[in-house]
Amino acid sequence: MFNIFSDKNKKKRVGVFSLTCDEGCSIYLTEIFNKKLLGWLEKIEIVNFLAIKDFVEIKNLDIALVEGVVTSEKDKKLIEEVRKNTKVLVAMGTCAITALPSGQRNNFNKDQLAQIKDHLKKYKFLPKALSVKEAVKTDDEIPGCPIDPKKFVEVFEKYI
Ligand code: SF4
Repeated sequence: MFNIFSDKNKKKRVGVFSLTCDEGCSIYLTEIFNKKLLGWLEKIEIVNFLAIKDFVEIKNLDIALVEGVVTSEKDKKLIEEVRKNTKVLVAMGTCAITALPSGQRNNFNKDQLAQIKDHLKKYKFLPKALSVKEAVKTDDEIPGCPIDPKKFVEVFEKYI
């Protein structure tokens, strides 16, 4: 049996990260990996992927795949850490690209904002929800909610 987390050769180090979202894209990604991973294993190792692995390592990444919206201080810290430690950062899924649906609150009027003010403070939410590319520099993106599998393969294979 293959151990997808071992690496004796120089394989591309891939991390999958989730910001605020329903994690639908990373769940969908497990389906894509089910079909394609055997063919990719000579070229990549997965060093972080919460859907299938507990250990979080944000270090010396070649490719980071990031889903979700930057809504909180915690998200901001994570995405900045990922950006510092990866060569290629790919925004994965519509919410990472557009900041919606969490970003709907960016268009709230004064009354609506007053209603959520305590909530934002309690959970250390940022004043504005940000897409991944508003928060940090991105190198590529994969649209879809969840991600389009053909587009994922096309983008991912450019970097491995
Ligand atoms: S793009 Fe859609 S499926 Fe993917 S994480 Fe966002 S809401 Fe979920």
